[in-house]
Amino acid sequence: MDPLQSPLQYLKGVGPRRAADLQRVGLHTVEDLLYRFPIRYEDRGTFQTIASLRPGVAASVAGEVVTCGLRPTRRPRFKIFEMLVRDRTGSVRAVWFNQPFLNDMFRPRQRVILYGKLELTAHGIQILSPQYEILPSEDETGAEGAASEGHEDETLHTGRIVPVYEKTGNLTTKMQRVLVHTALSQLPERLPDPMPAGILARHHLIDRRSALAEVHFPQSGTGIDELNRFRSAAQRRLIFEEFFLFQLGLVLRKRHSETERKPRSVVITDEVREAARRVLPFRLTGDQKKVIAEIVEDMKRPHPMNRLLQGDVGSGKTIVALMAALVAMENGFQVAFMAPTEILAEQHFITIRRLLESSRFRMTLLTGATSAKKRREVQAELAGGSIHLIVGTHALVEDPVAFHELGLVIIDEQHRFGVMQRAALRSKGMHPDVLVMTATPIPRTLALTTYGDLDVSVMREMPPGRHPIKTIAKPESRRDEIYEFLRQQLDAGRQAYVIYPLVEESSKVDLRAATEMADHLAQDVFPAYRVALLHGRLKQDAKERVMQSFARGEISILVSTTVVEVGVDVSNATVMLVEHAERFGLSQLHQLRGRVGRGPHQSYCILLYQSPMTDQGRERLKALTETTDGFVIAERDLSLRGPGDFFGTRQSGMPTLRVGDLLRDHQLMEDARREAVAALDDPRQAEPLTAFVRSSWEQRFGLVGVG
Ligand code: ADP
Ligand code: MG
Repeated sequence: MDPLQSPLQYLKGVGPRRAADLQRVGLHTVEDLLYRFPIRYEDRGTFQTIASLRPGVAASVAGEVVTCGLRPTRRPRFKIFEMLVRDRTGSVRAVWFNQPFLNDMFRPRQRVILYGKLELTAHGIQILSPQYEILPSEDETGAEGAASEGHEDETLHTGRIVPVYEKTGNLTTKMQRVLVHTALSQLPERLPDPMPAGILARHHLIDRRSALAEVHFPQSGTGIDELNRFRSAAQRRLIFEEFFLFQLGLVLRKRHSETERKPRSVVITDEVREAARRVLPFRLTGDQKKVIAEIVEDMKRPHPMNRLLQGDVGSGKTIVALMAALVAMENGFQVAFMAPTEILAEQHFITIRRLLESSRFRMTLLTGATSAKKRREVQAELAGGSIHLIVGTHALVEDPVAFHELGLVIIDEQHRFGVMQRAALRSKGMHPDVLVMTATPIPRTLALTTYGDLDVSVMREMPPGRHPIKTIAKPESRRDEIYEFLRQQLDAGRQAYVIYPLVEESSKVDLRAATEMADHLAQDVFPAYRVALLHGRLKQDAKERVMQSFARGEISILVSTTVVEVGVDVSNATVMLVEHAERFGLSQLHQLRGRVGRGPHQSYCILLYQSPMTDQGRERLKALTETTDGFVIAERDLSLRGPGDFFGTRQSGMPTLRVGDLLRDHQLMEDARREAVAALDDPRQAEPLTAFVRSSWEQRFGLVGVG
């Protein structure tokens, strides 16, 4: 038996009670324990004592906060945060300038590590703006229980580089250290290793047994920086292993879907080409042509298309979707086009109906607002095959909707839908082609991982005649200037959005603020213009009325919460004014900005912010003013937020990684992907790897469908 699969209750010092505690936090086997890696390391060998500190050099000290707080200065905007730290040899002062939020982070009696340069000042020696870490409290000795073992403990917890684990349930970092140590000492010299030997050699990766020992208890001589950057030999090996297994799963899933067969695939005749030409309202951009060709190639194949189309806001995805739909319909298939909101579904419906006016195809709209009677009619016609194209919201996946022969599923703004909804709509046909579209450019690393089983098309080119949007960030104190500018735009016949953040769509306080803002603009600032308010709590038909009359130009200023964020297209709107821009996420701001710049006029995005901003807030606004390239924005957003938050939702199918980090380790991910593809192409390796992945991959990464 695999020694890693041994249950934890057989571990020395773990009784039934402890084992039950561990199970509650998801730790059942030795593998669970050993694959719960340190989140960071502390070098407890090389802290300097406070008594030995000398000015002019940098040093790390570990100690306890004695006092801390903000010190007022004579200049009102200038704040100093000050802390007194002591260890058993003495105490030292640390100071930070203009970082008032530190006041919320530190408390007396916290254990901290500071690293910074020492200066001699009138107040004595002090550490200037040190980097800091707050250590979890270590008065855990009482809870230590059966697993702790006197003096052995000492060498595990001090005098060396020690691993620090995340606390979970009542498993503290110290307890985990002891358990891990015991587990390692009971492991046999050789462990079965899922990684093929050739790959280990090619990438200079160490064996699994050593990696597990080293990752928890690095030998002296291992650099602490290297460890905390997750670049030690042990960490690299384990990250590679995780990525490799994950990629094997993705590749297997993709290959499995390629064995599915559509009832029939499309054919492209002169007639189809002619139909497409008749419908096109403008010349396609090069990227649009390229992507349509990729899609049509997929549709001609015997297995179903699974393609993700990434194109920045305004890049013209709708017409691409329509071309795909036309090809399907010309081949006698039905098409379902799903959008995340009713406003957007309706807008697609209107656009497409206009373009298809002269064709023989019948289309309809189905949303939550569709009446029961109409709904029954639509259902009958869909099942009978007399409706060729249906546009709708998630109402489309609701149960009674059945198709005659659904051949193509198009999903707009993919990230708004869960994996489950995609699957549900797909299951309404016999292996239909699937095209998902997103305006959230996904950094390449993430695309490989989250969507590794989809083929990806990218449109970076914008339709001709667009002026790049000018973006500026201004403090609230400059509001009058901004209003003056807005007035010029309105006088010139343009329209504007004013976006107000709602922390939660249901927050009454924020809603009142947005309402007051709309009233104030209407009565005091722009009495000559019509101002309207749009928010998520309006009834659907009210929302639509407002949107329609903004689209017709009857409303000049649309004050809105972020419901307007996705997909809405009003080409005469040239100003996007965002209130409290510091509260929005980077990708969200980019999406909002994409609502303007859709017509022939120069457009502007104005980000009004309230000081003081956090460093992150400042970085976000800076990124927006520096670039309009959605892919650059996405990379910046990812690095500011980390992949966990990137999509804002767990549903998005992001893998739960134990040691790898998509951003930090993207190069390893790409290497792992290449090796996974190669390994599965090699019949001798493919079989054992497939078996291994089937037995472990699905549960480990929480994804389904390896086949
Ligand atoms: P998105 O990719 O954000 O969904 P849309 O499909 O809504 O973009 O297109 C944005 C605008 O650009 C629409 O008004 C559309 O008619 C126009 N458009 C798209 N492609 C072209 C093109 N090749 N030439 C001119 N205008 C185009
Ligand atoms: Mg769109």
